[in-house]
Amino acid sequence: MHKLVYIETYGCQMNEHDSERMLRLLEGFHYTETKEASQADLILINTCSVREKPEHKVYSALGRFRKLKERKGTVIGVAGCVAQQEGERLLDRVPYLDLVIGTHAIPMLAQLLERIEVSGQRVCETRFDRSGEYLKTLLPEKPLAKVKSYVTIMQGCDHFCSFCIVPYVRGRERSRPSSEILEEIRHLAEMGVKEVFLLGQNVNGYGKGLEGEVDFPSLLKRINGIEGIERIRFTTSHPADLSDGLIQDFSALEKLCEHIHLPFQSGSDRILKAMHRSYTRESYLERIGRLKEACPSIAITADVIVGFPGEEEEDFKETLDLMEKVKFDDLFSFKYSPRKGTRATQLQNQVEEKIKQDRLSILQKIQREITLERNQAVEGRVEEVLVEGLSKQSDQDVTGRTRSNKIVNFPGHVNLVGNLIPVHITKAYPHSLRGERIRANAGCEIEI
Ligand code: SAM
Ligand code: SF4
Repeated sequence: MHKLVYIETYGCQMNEHDSERMLRLLEGFHYTETKEASQADLILINTCSVREKPEHKVYSALGRFRKLKERKGTVIGVAGCVAQQEGERLLDRVPYLDLVIGTHAIPMLAQLLERIEVSGQRVCETRFDRSGEYLKTLLPEKPLAKVKSYVTIMQGCDHFCSFCIVPYVRGRERSRPSSEILEEIRHLAEMGVKEVFLLGQNVNGYGKGLEGEVDFPSLLKRINGIEGIERIRFTTSHPADLSDGLIQDFSALEKLCEHIHLPFQSGSDRILKAMHRSYTRESYLERIGRLKEACPSIAITADVIVGFPGEEEEDFKETLDLMEKVKFDDLFSFKYSPRKGTRATQLQNQVEEKIKQDRLSILQKIQREITLERNQAVEGRVEEVLVEGLSKQSDQDVTGRTRSNKIVNFPGHVNLVGNLIPVHITKAYPHSLRGERIRANAGCEIEI
């Protein structure tokens, strides 16, 4: 029987991609996606527990769906990091919940749903899978309605930063065999994908633990050779694993976009040590220097945490100073959020909420100015834009991204989608750029 599934996703790109993987899998079992929860036979909430706020959203989402369960018996499941972390406790706490599916159990989704249907049991599956099966991804059978696609290359993390829950909810680092990754990317190219976004909690640690595998820079070289793929991006990288080979790839591989997301977390050595980050402020800055030298046009973005336990005003100033030195194109900034089971929760000198909030506001104000400055530096230049779709603001405009990952809106027709277009950047805004297509000669627009 044909059924409808509604998926609500919180958190990072890895979660977004896991939702896509679940949907692709369910499509093979007569499900179609609906954007209306009220119409769904199955509701899945794909969750994030990296900070407290997204974790709380799960419970309010479940509250919203309770009535649907009572009214029409909708099957309700929780997937992702909160599912992995809470397991059976979630079933105890939420009596109308049918399914808890952990981060390694995605390939078992259809079987678990069948168990619920046949036996009426409530099901929880949160075992870690040592075989690596959980990394397998079903290939799409028909052309995708989008020009870019995520590809998981590894999952999990061995770094155990003292604030972070990821190693506990995603498991230890595990890389996918390069042959599988390359096959998936070749297939995506045949399905019309132009840009691949390689995903993993620590992508530049790719290959660890796989006998005879290539390392991350060599994997990029192989992807660079795949016909039909025009652009390669990846996230996230750990500064400690940033090799010379990877730095060189930015200048050597024409399809590798000039952008790196390299979280620094704090500008203070004392705090970096307590965070267990395994690099210093100096070595981070030195790596940034080498990246800029190898690839002067590279855009750099990062994550930073304020209010880590023991962070003094001096430490915070060092964070601001590092930001001024690097001039990040963009920065994802967070207040430290204690996570049960991580070592930082045991540390003395937890920082007061008000101080965290004040520091975050100061930092974000400074970064807004730097981001605008970085965007203004592109004004007047011609940038290659991969057109992704119609702009949300106006159907006279299309939207896409530069190689440095900046959003550009410019007048254009929907038939430009999927093309790489040279665009003259006319105006910079805090979150995007405005431009015009280059005209070959006055009054004659280049036609695609
Ligand atoms: N692997 C990446 C790295 O090494 O930086 C980060 C992945 S983590 C899912 C994404 C970001 O969430 C981190 O870079 C960090 O800034 C933030 N984060 C993680 N745990 C946090 C916590 N307990 N409180 C606040 N922010 C946190
Ligand atoms: Fe978390 Fe990233 Fe540290 Fe791993 S490297 S523990 S994912 S912050």
